[in-house]
Amino acid sequence: MPEADLDVQAIAERLRQVRRRIERAGGDPNGIEIVAATKRQPPAVCRAALAAGLTALGENRVQEALAKMHEVPGANWHLIGNLQTNKVKHASRFQLLQSLDSLRLAKALSQLPAAPPGLLQVNVAREPQKHGVLPEVAVPTAVAVAGVIELRGLMAMGAGGALAEGSFQELRRLRDETEQRLGRPLPVLSMGMSGDLEAAVRAGSTMLRLGSVLFGPRSLEQR
Ligand SMILES: *Cc1c(COP(=O)(O)O)cnc(C)c1O
Repeated sequence: MPEADLDVQAIAERLRQVRRRIERAGGDPNGIEIVAATKRQPPAVCRAALAAGLTALGENRVQEALAKMHEVPGANWHLIGNLQTNKVKHASRFQLLQSLDSLRLAKALSQLPAAPPGLLQVNVAREPQKHGVLPEVAVPTAVAVAGVIELRGLMAMGAGGALAEGSFQELRRLRDETEQRLGRPLPVLSMGMSGDLEAAVRAGSTMLRLGSVLFGPRSLEQR
């Protein structure tokens, strides 16, 4: 069997295991979108992910994503890492910008002929090395961002260990409050990774970003 077919079957089996984990956590596997976090995965693995039934691929770096787009046709690309102002011109290549972290960035995006929709990233873990706006300014920032581009919801990396679920519940509360302020639904809550997907599902995640649970551990070089 060619190597690529093996990858497809391995990924498809891991996807089935993920769906079982979602169900055991009380979630509906058909109601939660899975975005494959493909950072540092070669194009062949990205193509195998699509062949295994995944449709959305999340990349952390614009440059890495642009390089893969040529070699991986047919994917729905999400940006899940920091977008620098000098890379804004490439943003239209993505279907969803998950990691918006300022009104300034949203305003720069609004100048594009076709700005994609986005999520506001919130640093619910309050870790200085993590991106995103702090929870206390999340609602006003989200309302302001929604005034300049199409805001679909909120995104966060959870706090570690036992604090994960509380941090996801906080993101959900912030989403609910923003919805009330806007008077319209914000359908997307992007939260949950390989190690904390159950906590995220219990707190109401609508979108999981999964890497290692689908592809195995990444190599140890820089993130
Ligand atoms: C890498 C990454 C993920 C996936 O992480 P895993 O633990 O491998 O599932 C999710 N979100 C972001 C922003 C990431 O950088």
